[in-house]
Amino acid sequence: MKRVYLDHNATTPLDHRVFEAMKPYLVQHFGNASSPHRYGRRAQQALEESRETVAHTIGARSGEIIFTSGGTESDNLALRGVAHAQGRGHIITTAIEHHAVLRTCAALEGDGFTVTYLPVDNQGRINPDDLKRSIRKDTILISVMLANNETGVIEPISEVSSIARNHGIPFHCDAVQAVGKIRVDVNALGADLLSLSAHKLYGPKGIGALFVKDSMRLDPVMTGGHHERGLRAGTENVAGAVGFAHALHIAINAMDSYHTKISSLRNKLESEVLQRIDHVTVHGAHAQRLPHCSSLGFSSVEAESILLHLDLRGIAASSGSACTTGETEPSHVLTAMGLSPEIAQGTIRISLGRGNTEEDINYALDVLAYAISSLRGISSQWQAIEKRAL
Ligand code: PLP
Repeated sequence: MKRVYLDHNATTPLDHRVFEAMKPYLVQHFGNASSPHRYGRRAQQALEESRETVAHTIGARSGEIIFTSGGTESDNLALRGVAHAQGRGHIITTAIEHHAVLRTCAALEGDGFTVTYLPVDNQGRINPDDLKRSIRKDTILISVMLANNETGVIEPISEVSSIARNHGIPFHCDAVQAVGKIRVDVNALGADLLSLSAHKLYGPKGIGALFVKDSMRLDPVMTGGHHERGLRAGTENVAGAVGFAHALHIAINAMDSYHTKISSLRNKLESEVLQRIDHVTVHGAHAQRLPHCSSLGFSSVEAESILLHLDLRGIAASSGSACTTGETEPSHVLTAMGLSPEIAQGTIRISLGRGNTEEDINYALDVLAYAISSLRGISSQWQAIEKRAL
């Protein structure tokens, strides 16, 4: 059976070049980077070179990169780290963040912090004026994602960071989905803290980083040895760091050709879906978006049924973030955009990757058109729509 992977926002395959770069640090140069002997020094050298590469690709200095286990931990360290260093106060974030931010904010509310969740418009964008109005004397942190994991919509980060800077409030940006797909520079974005994750850009799972501007005061979340400037205890994942740096390097070098290829595939997918299938919405179509990502809402069908049809024909896509698979509630992102529960529940996310071809898109279009027509054929809701149209 033909297999087509269209779920690159959930994770990407490890690039074989990245795997080759990592191998020596799993087998031969296996030392603990904190050990003073030759084995340790070799590992330490690779770790610091990787830190330098990661820093360089986002316009940071190597001392500002803290390696973590991934995006979730980076978000936790940013939010909990700032909050606990301050002891009390108010945090501003958005209603459409990843659960790594939202559930951390909820936990901080339980610890006595207050949190404002900014709304978004029907394209999934926050309004910087809402941010200005939400700032209080005790606001200690603003956290806004660069690009949304369900829709790919890009937030007005420069405006957010300039508001934060004018008020002297630290700004954290979750750039997990954006890094490797669009240019991310901490200076251009004006971020004080920025989360990254390797497995979204053909690197290994279990490694990520938090950019922490030198002037930032953070409490560690993990305590133990004095690793990572005392901000993240635990024996360093050297092979992971090497893989992460290698994957970033490859992604940055191939960015322009990737962008051209992937956006033309995504545009083909969307325009043909709209031509071939009635009652479809492309969420966030009027906003600036990541080039590879498409959120498609089909009326009168359940996303889970569409995904089952696709899976039976070898196509992998998703109904939202992978972390919410199995949840029956409509996506908090689509709900925040004001979509009806019916459209939110009929929404699938297609996220393309380097390996996808025009043939994959043609196959996916055929399978999708067949799936929607079969499902609508047995949907009483759809029959009512058709009757009204007559
Ligand atoms: N933030 C965003 C926007 C994400 O999309 C994800 C993962 O999907 C995360 C954070 C969590 O990253 P990780 O899977 O590396 O923990």
